[in-house]
Amino acid sequence: MNKVRASAPQLEGLVPYDPKYLPAEAYLSANENPRDVDAEVRAAIARRIAQVPLNRYPDPLANRLRDLIAEANGLDRANVLLGNGGDELLFDVALAWGGPGRSFLNLPPTFSVYAANARLTNTRCVDVPRRADFSIDEAAVLERVGKGDIDFVIVTSPNNPTGQRASTAFIEELLDATDALVLVDEAYFEFSCATVRPLLATHENLAILRTFSKAFSLAGVRLGYVLANAPVIEELCKVRQPYSVDAVSQAIGEVVFENRARFEPGIREIIEERGRVMAALRTLPGVTAYPSDSNWILFSMEDAGAAWQYLYDRGVLVRDFSSAPMLEGCLRATIGTPEQNDAFIRGLRDFLSESRERRARAMQ
Ligand code: PMP
Repeated sequence: MNKVRASAPQLEGLVPYDPKYLPAEAYLSANENPRDVDAEVRAAIARRIAQVPLNRYPDPLANRLRDLIAEANGLDRANVLLGNGGDELLFDVALAWGGPGRSFLNLPPTFSVYAANARLTNTRCVDVPRRADFSIDEAAVLERVGKGDIDFVIVTSPNNPTGQRASTAFIEELLDATDALVLVDEAYFEFSCATVRPLLATHENLAILRTFSKAFSLAGVRLGYVLANAPVIEELCKVRQPYSVDAVSQAIGEVVFENRARFEPGIREIIEERGRVMAALRTLPGVTAYPSDSNWILFSMEDAGAAWQYLYDRGVLVRDFSSAPMLEGCLRATIGTPEQNDAFIRGLRDFLSESRERRARAMQ
């Protein structure tokens, strides 16, 4: 058999994205909503899907869903773009604003997909690392964009995996300081109850990313959207895959968006549970829990890798960042149902008391 020649050089050494999904009783690793879409909405989805012509290509721009989202946000259709998950739109942004000879400003530690997309598109990735408490080094960011060579910046608010949102005053300052495209990734904004959407009226260089995967329980469907001024949407339309949002996903998105008020109690429960889990983590000696405006809590501790394994052996899957750069010793637990959160806290408490006993025995 003939050998295949090498793939593009930017792929060398690249590791494919791995969500590290493992079978578990409590999935607290991917920041999903622990509650699936309720039975009534599911029935409405089934009725809507039954009418979808499967032999026809979908509406390339998902205009019905676009209109629903635009109206809810006080915007026009021209300000909304749907994608196959927020992930696709992130790639579109890198294609449209990145490329050889162009620069992306990243604020690590943050969502790893941004840097991977920069690499895939041969975009230079410039880092302005967060401070030790994971807050944005605002002065350093403003100074860096002041050099004038940054083509796009992503500010994640709330930031995954560290948890806190960015200040609106800072984002406004950033928008004023540069003509780079500033993408504010609001994938989790429903849990922070804060958005920079009003700034779209005054800033053509702002784009906002949202998703149906988290608050709206649709991670399995793959729907995300960008809100931006029309010139930005037009550029993204040049690089997007025309039919990436299939007709079935469009139909599901329409029904879920029409019923979005029904998801509010679930969102409120997650926010309340976040407070309860945070309070419990703060009682655990040796655990540092970072403040969260989102649907997870990042925490650091000694022996984090062993704690991850201990939890997993008890059916609780959290995300292990303990060997990721700038996140040494950190684990991230998604807020689940009250029962799942109890199992997580119980497991962590048991791990810590067993470690203490082991250490005490070793000292004897
Ligand atoms: N942005 C951030 C910060 C995320 O954490 C995620 C999901 N992991 C996404 C965007 C993309 O979400 P999706 O593709 O499911 O819409």
